[in-house]
Amino acid sequence: MERLQKVIAYAGVASRRKAEQLILEGKVKVNGKVVKELGIKVSDSDTVEVNGVKLEKEDKVYFLLYKPRGVISAVTDDKGRKTVTDIFKKHVHQRIFPVGRLDYDTSGLLLLTNDGEFAYQLTHPKFKIDKTYIARVKGVPTIEGLKKLQRGIKLEDGKTAPAKVSMTSFDEKAGKAICEITIHEGRNRQVRRMFEAIGTPVVKLKRERFAFLDLSGLKTGEYRELTKHEVKKLR
Ligand code: URA
Repeated sequence: MERLQKVIAYAGVASRRKAEQLILEGKVKVNGKVVKELGIKVSDSDTVEVNGVKLEKEDKVYFLLYKPRGVISAVTDDKGRKTVTDIFKKHVHQRIFPVGRLDYDTSGLLLLTNDGEFAYQLTHPKFKIDKTYIARVKGVPTIEGLKKLQRGIKLEDGKTAPAKVSMTSFDEKAGKAICEITIHEGRNRQVRRMFEAIGTPVVKLKRERFAFLDLSGLKTGEYRELTKHEVKKLR
């Protein structure tokens, strides 16, 4: 027996939070009856419908993509821009979606899956997964600036959690520094806003690592399936 919102999330229909919303809105039926409580548990033999559509038991798939710049981290885009799921369309038939997001202009490691529960666990702030970025920034961050990022810095949406950050090199001719930063939060444009706040705006951003995963063996635009062992380790 599993909680209803979890079953919906597992089916890849919606994130767990979205599934809860759908239940509260009366859009979910169990064995033909509308259910509006979040506590209810269902088993494999129960029939669950969301918005009138029966849940299918789809195989769960997990991918690691080296996202290129200029691609939207979404399933569809109302402006018609290329999305990360477009990259998979020819070969993957499951309804996958990105786990969290990278900005349009950010490249790097992005996971995609049709397992809503897995995505929920990896993106919920309470799970504190480390994500490491390489940022090319304008100018040279001061020691004080880097310390502020390490301690946590005040942004419009509150103070950030302490980050690991260092400057790894400086391109004197271009006047740009390369910094490595590890954070476990996932706020909108967080790394960009953090460097902006210390006076050295990001000009290029790439996510190098997500938990213990990195981009080795992949070129931009390429992807691979996660191994069973990797999926297990991430849970
Ligand atoms: N922080 C950003 O600013 N952008 C991203 O894409 C990811 C983290």
